[in-house]
Amino acid sequence: MAGYFHAEGIVLKSRDYQETAQLLTILTLDHGKIDAIVKGVRKPSSSLRSGTQQLSRSRFLFYAGRNLATVTQCEVQSIYAPLRQDLGRLAYACYLVEIADSVVMPGQVNPVMYNLLKQGLEMLAAAPPVLVARAFEARTLKILGLEPRLDRCAACGGSLTGGGRVTVAPAAGGAVCPGCCGREGPEYRVMPGSIKIWQQLNHMQWRLLQRLQVSPARARELEEIMPAFLEYYLDRRLKSRIFINTIGGNDDDGTGKNRSAAGTPGNRLPGSQGGPGTGWR
Ligand SMILES: [Zn+2]
Repeated sequence: MAGYFHAEGIVLKSRDYQETAQLLTILTLDHGKIDAIVKGVRKPSSSLRSGTQQLSRSRFLFYAGRNLATVTQCEVQSIYAPLRQDLGRLAYACYLVEIADSVVMPGQVNPVMYNLLKQGLEMLAAAPPVLVARAFEARTLKILGLEPRLDRCAACGGSLTGGGRVTVAPAAGGAVCPGCCGREGPEYRVMPGSIKIWQQLNHMQWRLLQRLQVSPARARELEEIMPAFLEYYLDRRLKSRIFINTIGGNDDDGTGKNRSAAGTPGNRLPGSQGGPGTGWR
């Protein structure tokens, strides 16, 4: 592609470049991920500052050069102001952005992931951030074709049996029956109620998310297992989770009440064998 072209996009990353420029990574609706320079944007007088800051969604006019594209104009669609005024929501916004950045490969056009990110950022302004993050993870796994099997054993198709805690193994692709436990990588033990919430999240419309009732205990379990699933398949640690933990974002369980107990419940089974996920937690 050469010459000028328009694209709507969300700024995933921005870093300083040369004296007054910035180098952006922008996820666009129609052209995939684009690395682009914005010249002079660090000058106070630049008209491009607002629309090119990280998390902004804008309509850009690019010039495709030989190596890098250049942003020559941009028209702001949303800067997601409510997220910038709340450190907790901002941390979760960075988490959604990091997931989208990890999922979309260079050169890949992925309008479904773009629209998911756009919806996720919009929902973060209105719904409990923890629930938005879980719904976003569930949808991302579906987009990747990796929706976990949770109704029966993902390994043998058999019944999960009993009413006790269910074992979930990312490497197996979902829940596993007692007979298949201990065979495939890291495993987690979760309450059947948490599995039900996960199944709801897989199919729930965004607008219904605010009505979802999740107990603090289930929220904590899902906070551990759902990101672990995603990290297992992306084969990387999502760094913004550390930021969320640092600012105490985990303490908001999505129910409006802070947790009473500190720390994570440690649902990972002792002695679980590591697959590609070894050492992630
Ligand atoms: Zn089985």
